[in-house]
Amino acid sequence: MKRKYEILMLLLFAVLLGFSCSQTDGDSSGALPERKDIAEEYTWNLNDLYSGLEAWEAEFQSVENSIPELKTYQGKLDHSGDIILECLKKRDELASRIDKLYVYAHLAMDSDTRNPEFQSRANRIASLEVRFHEMVSYIVPELQTIAGKTLERYIENTPGLDMYGHYFHDLNRSRSHILNPDQERLLAMTGDMARTPGRVHEMLTVTDIRFPKVKNEEGKWVELSPGRYYQMLYSEDPDVRRGAFEGMYGTYEKFQNVNAAAFDGMLKADIFYARARNFESTLHASLFSDNIPTDVYDNLIESVHNNLEPLRKYMELRKQVLGVDNLHLYDTSVPIVPEAGEKVPYEEARQKVLEALHPLGEDYLKLAKEGLYGRWIDVYETRGKTNGAYSWGTYDAPHPYILMNYNDTRDNMFTLAHELGHTIHSMLTNKNQPYIYSDYSLFVAEVASTMNEALLLDHLLKTTEDPNIRLALMDQWADNIVGTLYTQVLFAEFEKTIHEKAEAGIPITAETLNETYMAILKSYYGDSLVLDDLYKLTWGRIGHFYRSFYVYVYATSISASTYLSGKILDGNSQAVSDYLDMLKAGGSDYPINLLKNAGVDMSKPDAVNYTLQKFGEIVDEMSRAL
Ligand SMILES: [Zn+2]
Repeated sequence: MKRKYEILMLLLFAVLLGFSCSQTDGDSSGALPERKDIAEEYTWNLNDLYSGLEAWEAEFQSVENSIPELKTYQGKLDHSGDIILECLKKRDELASRIDKLYVYAHLAMDSDTRNPEFQSRANRIASLEVRFHEMVSYIVPELQTIAGKTLERYIENTPGLDMYGHYFHDLNRSRSHILNPDQERLLAMTGDMARTPGRVHEMLTVTDIRFPKVKNEEGKWVELSPGRYYQMLYSEDPDVRRGAFEGMYGTYEKFQNVNAAAFDGMLKADIFYARARNFESTLHASLFSDNIPTDVYDNLIESVHNNLEPLRKYMELRKQVLGVDNLHLYDTSVPIVPEAGEKVPYEEARQKVLEALHPLGEDYLKLAKEGLYGRWIDVYETRGKTNGAYSWGTYDAPHPYILMNYNDTRDNMFTLAHELGHTIHSMLTNKNQPYIYSDYSLFVAEVASTMNEALLLDHLLKTTEDPNIRLALMDQWADNIVGTLYTQVLFAEFEKTIHEKAEAGIPITAETLNETYMAILKSYYGDSLVLDDLYKLTWGRIGHFYRSFYVYVYATSISASTYLSGKILDGNSQAVSDYLDMLKAGGSDYPINLLKNAGVDMSKPDAVNYTLQKFGEIVDEMSRAL
């Protein structure tokens, strides 16, 4: 399928070690460059998907015309295994073609969200997809009315049908949450409507919102943008950091009511679907698809609460090194080792990433090289381009694409390694699995990406002699744990709490959101930081909240990859091949099982505790070295 793997662009994801705020300035007024100003080799080549717009239009027509063909199987699926197989193959083929149309349209739009033609194409394919889902909505409920024994016999007697074995098992598991065909059809029709809150949030935060001009390090007034906000948090100048924070959050404060209404709409949609499908709660509904027990979620929050001391100690260490009595949250990204601010141009980044991936073997390296040098990547920030970074692809395509907003920082280099991890995971899955299992879970996806980050860090530590840079790298790792483990669990707890409030019928207003967020933020940092009041608005900035109960996966993943990269770097060749087998397996099994086969059991707290313990040790080591 076509899941997008986004990088975290979040509060406290403090590994961005650059500080130049004028890096991508196109002119003296501080405006961002236009797309046409970027050299072609640093833009992605969407022609690898379609030769051009006419080809996209022709394919759109062809798919649109084919959708009604799926009606011919309705009411007949229990007749024979052959009919089931034919229907599923036809459905998957069309789904795959729609994915490709969809991804192409959205990649184009993301490169310039202001372009109305791109927007209209993206809307058309989204509507076509809804029509497709309406059309195929009879399939699952019909399959579920076939008795288990009959289906087993069909699988036995129909060559090729056994490919769908895991899929049927999963359907059986969902039986009690799937409604009758008419109700399913009705639910499918709500899809477009239910996406509106997310669209409102996106249009507000990406397209409509204009941030004020703030002073950069050279005292020049520049227009604040999400990309620049992150850069400015790394400034050595406390006034630049405060200015960026106040400019960013002050703007969100002005829009807090419309933003809260969108958030409330999202919560109501979640509750609607959870109740419509007979789930105990929205959390149960969300974790169900990956077959993850809610205990995993609750235990994760508990494990982190039991290990808050190292986090506060780390903040104390920062306070000491910076020589300040009061440390604000917006002061926690600035490198505490000055050499950490060195720039990493893109050329150097892709070279180092490539070197770092050697432990994963020749086949993996070959794909990495193709990706880094074959225009799969849209590198630089331009006006109107979507912020953040992601890897996004589709089954029936030569390769996925990577969107970056590369700014010559070491953090950007790590982001590149991260997204490349997703991209190669997809390549290996698509090569080894049928379409039906090409959509692997985020629960394994973020292991594939953070594994590459772990290998890059290790490579840099091994090839760097300068004690200051080594210290900076340790600090970077520690920051990464703060951003990926502590902060994501903080977010996860916020999501759980706010969903519970909404489910209990408590009205969700800007005030509810602000209060809930602030209370949880305080419980994590205690008195170790000054938590400025405007931070209560953080919920309004985080697009990830529009995919409920998903950010916790970053915390479980970094724990799993920290644990597994330890084995791989020890030279354990079995660990490498087990790991690559997991990448090749895609979604052909449940994620907890896939990870178990790769060597880590996430139903136990071991990997999380291992990682937090390592964090505590690194903080102690840095403390001694500083
Ligand atoms: Zn990712």
